[in-house]
Amino acid sequence: MENSQSIVFVQFFSLIALSCAIAWTLLATLLRIAPRASWCFAAANTFTVIGILLYTQRTEAINYLYWFVADMTILLGFALVRWGCQYLFKQALSYRFDLILLTTAALLMLLVPPSVIYAVYLVIVMSMTAAIFISLSGIDNFRAVKKHLPLYYAALLNVPFFTIGLLFIIRAIVLLFSPQQLAHISAADKLNSPLVLWSYIILLLLTNLVLFGNALARLVFKVARLANKDQLTGLWNRHALLDKLKQVDALWLRNDLAYSLMVLDLDHFKRINDTYGHLAGDKVLKHTAETLQNTLRKIDFICRYGGEEFLIILPLTNKKEAQIVAEKIQKKIKESVIVWQKKHISTTLSIGYATCKTHLNIEQLLQLADDAMYLAKSRGRNTICSLDSIEQANEIISTTRQ
Ligand code: GH3
Ligand code: MG
Ligand code: MG
Repeated sequence: MENSQSIVFVQFFSLIALSCAIAWTLLATLLRIAPRASWCFAAANTFTVIGILLYTQRTEAINYLYWFVADMTILLGFALVRWGCQYLFKQALSYRFDLILLTTAALLMLLVPPSVIYAVYLVIVMSMTAAIFISLSGIDNFRAVKKHLPLYYAALLNVPFFTIGLLFIIRAIVLLFSPQQLAHISAADKLNSPLVLWSYIILLLLTNLVLFGNALARLVFKVARLANKDQLTGLWNRHALLDKLKQVDALWLRNDLAYSLMVLDLDHFKRINDTYGHLAGDKVLKHTAETLQNTLRKIDFICRYGGEEFLIILPLTNKKEAQIVAEKIQKKIKESVIVWQKKHISTTLSIGYATCKTHLNIEQLLQLADDAMYLAKSRGRNTICSLDSIEQANEIISTTRQ
């Protein structure tokens, strides 16, 4: 290492990267926020420091540790950033491609002895591989973030990745077309330029900051999802219902897009619990939820309304269509058999539904669908009923009570 400024820089860089590594480790262990991703980012920071420390020891002499191992350690750090991002956003892992890329880079580097004579070639191989890793991480991140955030914000968040990727590409291209620039690049790399020093540190900090923001964002999305989902079945819960109902009702009022509400209740469910146990009951609930999900369209909103009661919002569905859907569900549930400890459990549903009408508000429509379900119960269960108006509901309820 040439001057004291460089020494201070390396110390400063190492301090920041190791602090980030410790922060990620804490996130993975104590707070358990995205543990696998956090471990990857902790390791990525550590590898980068090790790589940089080895890198700064380079001399004129042939040395595999300061050239080959240093480069491969930094590249592994970049690969770990990519894997961490993939864990974070639950994307398909690209281990195979990445390991092939790392192996190819390693083999290309091993083709020549690690010394200054082959520096141009070695720096090009290292820079291109690094650029590919960092740019791919940026693309993965961008794809994941743009699902939840506006496009420009998603692009802005990934600026550090694309900047680092671009810097590596520029470095490789300059050397490819003008190898004599190596002296300049080496001088910059040997950290004699304050601009280069600061850009390394800023990019390191920014990358960690973006990754940290992503981890927190994932936590927020997870909490939001948990607040709206039923733990046992994975269906929507009552908390999420009202928002969706308001949306569908607004579409009906504004664009005349009819919708139906359906209330479904498992028949004699208590008997299942009493005969086979509570866990068997839970399995029946999960099975019913899965059957509903497999039977209905993506746009239908399935909610666990109460214990063994489900509510479905069927957008773009009139009365006639709702009847067809109800019959389809009834048939599927009746025909399916749940195996519990080698015993077969079968179940049926009582289904009530109501279709939107101009003079009915959301609460009234919900009440109608619920009343229709109770009507189905009173008519012997495993039955489908519908009600068109509050008057009709009151009339039927009073006659069934008589
Ligand atoms: P009906 O045909 O009239 O609907 O009779 P039912 O037995 O299905 O209805 P009832 O309301 O008498 O019983 C519902 C049972 O559902 C009682 C409750 O213990 C059970 N239950 C509610 N939530 C859960 C759950 O999460 N898991 C299990 N296993 N059982 C549940
Ligand atoms: Mg029931
Ligand atoms: Mg019930």
